[in-house]
Amino acid sequence: HANFNTDIPGVKERTLVAIKPDGVQRRLIGQIIKRFEQRGFRLVGLKMVEVSEELLAQHYVSLRKKPFYPSVLQYMTSGPVVAMVWEGHNVIKSTRMLVGDTNPAEAAPGTLRGDFSVHVSRNVVHASDSPEVAQKEISLWFQRSELIDWVCCDHGNIYHP
Ligand code: GDP
Ligand code: MG
Repeated sequence: HANFNTDIPGVKERTLVAIKPDGVQRRLIGQIIKRFEQRGFRLVGLKMVEVSEELLAQHYVSLRKKPFYPSVLQYMTSGPVVAMVWEGHNVIKSTRMLVGDTNPAEAAPGTLRGDFSVHVSRNVVHASDSPEVAQKEISLWFQRSELIDWVCCDHGNIYHP
């Protein structure tokens, strides 16, 4: 892959995306992954997990004081979750746009939440919301050895060669 310039600034940005238990139960895994693939992002980590309350407590530190926090814990431990790391230029911001507003009523049609959800308590997918949070979440959910650095054959068409 000597022909590809993978050192383009920002191309190595990574974000954590999780398909929540409602998304898994509703058989939306394929449709969700498809949106990231077709956009041109690169999958560097993928696994199905039963999330522990310990991990969730760290993942959702910012929600700990919220009245709905216990119900979020219950929801997120109600079944398997599909955790992924996606990489690409501006992937954090682009993913938040792709996922849509936290409240499905505010999520635009065409976004995952806007297309697949109705209520904030069952909004199908999680995505990191900033570079700092993305770094924290990726290291919380994945071991380094679970993240694969590979070059996609269409790299030169997604980015300039
Ligand atoms: P996100 O980054 O868009 O997922 O939103 P937040 O970080 O603010 O909240 C995390 C998750 O908590 C959301 O995705 C929702 O599933 C859940 N959540 C947020 N607000 C509410 C609420 O008012 N009620 C309930 N039941 N859940 C909420
Ligand atoms: Mg958040």
